[in-house]
Amino acid sequence: GQVAFITGGGSGIGFRIAEIFMRHGCRTVIASRNLQRVSEAAQKLVAATGQQCLPLAMDVRQPQTIVAAVDKALEEFKQIDILINGAAGNFLCPASALSFNAFKTVIDIDTIGTFNTSKVLFEKYFRDHGGVIVNITATVNYRGQVLQVHAGSAKAAIDAMTRHLAVEWGPNRIRVNSLAPGPITGTEGYRRLGGKFAKETSHFDMIPLQRAGNKTEIAHSTLYLASSLSSYVTGTTLVVDGGSWLTLGNSFSTLMGIASSSAK
Ligand code: NAP
Repeated sequence: GQVAFITGGGSGIGFRIAEIFMRHGCRTVIASRNLQRVSEAAQKLVAATGQQCLPLAMDVRQPQTIVAAVDKALEEFKQIDILINGAAGNFLCPASALSFNAFKTVIDIDTIGTFNTSKVLFEKYFRDHGGVIVNITATVNYRGQVLQVHAGSAKAAIDAMTRHLAVEWGPNRIRVNSLAPGPITGTEGYRRLGGKFAKETSHFDMIPLQRAGNKTEIAHSTLYLASSLSSYVTGTTLVVDGGSWLTLGNSFSTLMGIASSSAK
């Protein structure tokens, strides 16, 4: 009976979160830049689950497009209970080769986009009704992952934002948490970060659980953070990575090999 607003819900992890939430009786709004992508995704989600799904075009970097999308969502569903900030961009690149603009773009989408969307939802609905925010982050910043200074910096700032907003908005009955996935198969992130090559070269044997994760595992953990099962959990980051950040390789030469193979 709840409504979830999911940025980046038209593909990858965001799409699976929408599907699992809908299978648990939630209506969803899936929002990203490409209207065709979210519209096709919404058709598939409705067909698979029998629940309602509203696809909307919006760019998390442009607050006025978020305002318009949230207004439409409220017009349609009259309530929004859950916000999943999943929109992001990533790629492997050494810091020395990263353009100023590339670094800024990742910060703009991931960090500023998460703030923009959270603030619009707060002003339009959560301030008066309470709500739950789950920010999808990453573990790449924990050990300074090579080729990931842009994404790591962006996601570290989101984890900080999670704690700030949890403190400021707790009295409004708003819980704010991060969920940090490890390498997740069948996603754009996995493809761009060289997942297939890493699997072929047994790179993932280093992970304590000896494998990459899957999208359903991330969606189930997100469901926990979004549901009342986690009603006393706020300001924290749930790492869902099979233990990979503790042990996975962080050598420049290995990761450069993976990067150049995945670029082919
Ligand atoms: P994905 O399919 O590429 O999802 C990213 C989504 O963000 C797309 O649907 C994209 O849709 C949307 N998006 C990008 N820029 C946007 C913008 N400016 N405004 C609105 N929407 C925008 O990637 P994924 O691999 O499933 O990743 C999903 C999340 O999990 C991301 O936050 C990622 O950092 C995180 N994560 C993934 C992995 C992994 O192994 N895949 C690991 C750790 C963390 P449009 O192009 O239509 O805008």
